Amino acid sequence: MKVLVCGGAGYIGSNMTAMLREAGHEPVVYDNLSSGHQKAVKTADFVKGDLADFDMLVKILTYKQIDAVMHFAAFIEVSESVENPLEFYRNNVCNTHTLLAAMEKCNIDKFVFSSSAAVYGTPEKTPITEDAATNPINPYGQTKLAVERMCHCQSQTGRLKYAALRYFNAAGAGADGSLGEDHKLESHLIPLAIEAALGKKDEIKIFGVDYPTDDGTCIRDYIHIEDLCSAHLLALEKLNYENELIYNLGNGKGYSVQQVIETVKKVSGKNFRVVNDLRRAGDPPILTADATKAIEGLGWEVKYPELEAIIETAWKWHSENPNGYAD
Ligand code: UDP
Repeated sequence: MKVLVCGGAGYIGSNMTAMLREAGHEPVVYDNLSSGHQKAVKTADFVKGDLADFDMLVKILTYKQIDAVMHFAAFIEVSESVENPLEFYRNNVCNTHTLLAAMEKCNIDKFVFSSSAAVYGTPEKTPITEDAATNPINPYGQTKLAVERMCHCQSQTGRLKYAALRYFNAAGAGADGSLGEDHKLESHLIPLAIEAALGKKDEIKIFGVDYPTDDGTCIRDYIHIEDLCSAHLLALEKLNYENELIYNLGNGKGYSVQQVIETVKKVSGKNFRVVNDLRRAGDPPILTADATKAIEGLGWEVKYPELEAIIETAWKWHSENPNGYAD
């Protein structure tokens, strides 16, 4: 299939683009480079464009004869979404509306959407199944849920088939070692701990040590980037005969912030300073996935069930690319 990968120059989108190509598809990356890196696009046509630009989208979808769209181009930082909700709604919701409208105009009906565990808010029980209540506790999660609802309504018309993939914590680097995580403003735990291990930062802060967990720090479910992308590939294929797919993508296993930091120390062989800090706004205490539905419904197989193996791939990329894609 010819697949438009919106946000294909970013962390998840660039890995997805590489995997699409490997699987015999023809990816075309559409990215405004607001946070992505053109160097991360190695095996696809690249179009610099904005999702707000309806005419440009229609042109590209038509000219490139696109069959399906994957959408990774969103703002992702929870605390920023609390500070600047209108920007998040504009980019994550309004621009996705523009994209869906352009697809409708071009009669393209297959759409794979990056959703998030943030749609669940603070879940009543973990691991979380897809039928759990959706009660996002921050604007970021609300924007993801708003897009899921927009897709649902559009799918009811028969003009859209979509997969909403609810990511838990994406981590690690592509196995050939060339596609890692390089956010302009890094906020994620694993890359920040690695930066501390590399001596690029003096310390790592733990945001909250008074959560109702064994060691008082938040628990998250880390899923390797390649495992995440392989589920997208399977979902894309399944849209040939299904209209509406919603899946959790996680390992089902939780690790605390403290455990992640200890694992980064072990994998890197470096010690670094760890400082206990206050809670970060919008963080639920525990998020772990029940991914049975994706495993059974997609035939999804996870290659990296262990945190240590995931962190090893991240450590390798960051230690080989200490300046990210800047070199
Ligand atoms: N976290 C932390 N220190 C940091 C960055 C993150 O303690 O410097 C915590 C954060 O509060 C959350 C967990 O690590 O509990 C994972 O955060 P991340 O931003 O990596 O992913 P999120 O779960 O927000 O998607």
